[in-house]
Amino acid sequence: MPSPLPPRSVAVVLGTRPELVKLAELIRILGPAARVIHTGQHYDDELSGRFLTELGLPEPEFLTGVGGSPRAGQIATALGALDALFAADRPHAVVVQGDTNAALSGALAANARSIPLVHIEAGLRSHDRRMPEEHNRVLIDRLADLLCAATPDNRANLLAEGISPARIELTGNTVVEAVQQQLPGADERRALLERHGLTPDGYVLATVHRPENTDDPAALGAVLTELAAVAADLPVVLPLHPRTRARVEAEGLAPLLAGLTVLAPLGYGEFLALARHAALLVSDSGGVQEETTVLGRPLVVVRRSTERPEAMGTFAELVSPGPELGRAARARLAEGRLGLRRLEAQRSPFGDGTASRRIAELLADLTAPAHAAA
Ligand code: UDP
Repeated sequence: MPSPLPPRSVAVVLGTRPELVKLAELIRILGPAARVIHTGQHYDDELSGRFLTELGLPEPEFLTGVGGSPRAGQIATALGALDALFAADRPHAVVVQGDTNAALSGALAANARSIPLVHIEAGLRSHDRRMPEEHNRVLIDRLADLLCAATPDNRANLLAEGISPARIELTGNTVVEAVQQQLPGADERRALLERHGLTPDGYVLATVHRPENTDDPAALGAVLTELAAVAADLPVVLPLHPRTRARVEAEGLAPLLAGLTVLAPLGYGEFLALARHAALLVSDSGGVQEETTVLGRPLVVVRRSTERPEAMGTFAELVSPGPELGRAARARLAEGRLGLRRLEAQRSPFGDGTASRRIAELLADLTAPAHAAA
């Protein structure tokens, strides 16, 4: 059913790879009602441009001068530019997703002009104040008029902070439908694996990009050393994030990559295909913690803290970037095919694939008075 909202009435502000992935289906459902604004936080083609094409997103309005600058500069530049856009053409609602600087800029811009703000993936908390993302998500949740919590835990976090239950809706996480829709079919997956010389359940897929692992050369070296040790038994595929590549080169750590299968960052479908058949994933990504629960694969999370405790235990565990990583990886791999079949039978704690549709309905309700007055 086409969206009942007027054309360009919902500003969707985004700026990074995970936002493109998790907002694609909502943007598709909104159709002409969506006005997509890309802040340019992720500005290279590997992390942004190709995702617009692959996910079938409309060409966004791009802000300039945001990507590559420090956090305060990114937020300030995007905020000023968004304010000018909203002054010239006021949307009925602003939608942001997650915890990025782009999302915080969108939230502040909506707030500055008293435009209703919707936060998708509200209520995640790591309680780790060392992470800028934690500050971003707390701030966005304080400002939002409609908070779309993905899980009951997320809702409970918001209630514990005194946020009115009237502002919170339990929707599930939009990543579930992203995986369901973008995972290539079995034949295509088989061909992709063959192209990479991989066999199902016969390799490890790893991603590393968070500052806590990349900015400290000792941590980055420890992660790569552990991955190289695992690679002595099983191929380890590492699509290398541009930030990580730059740090590896700057710190002279390139020799540690020798035993790994290093790739450029992958498109979303290809990444999901490789994740679907990996014996194990090792990652510090937020989105990957959710995706593995939909794909039914085990994950070792190399981080100090997580805002996604729902994935821990059955699907994943937190480890530090050292021998603990190697121990956890080997323990999971020792569970073998039986362990993988057990995980495949588990339901994802992040929802049932209907979150985007529910959020689109909530948006129609939220903007109904403005809509009627327009
Ligand atoms: N991803 C991808 N290609 C890759 C590595 C990751 O498409 O080579 C996807 C991954 O499936 C997830 C998203 O990128 O949906 C995660 O992005 P990132 O790790 O940058 O952000 P986070 O989720 O940690 O905020």
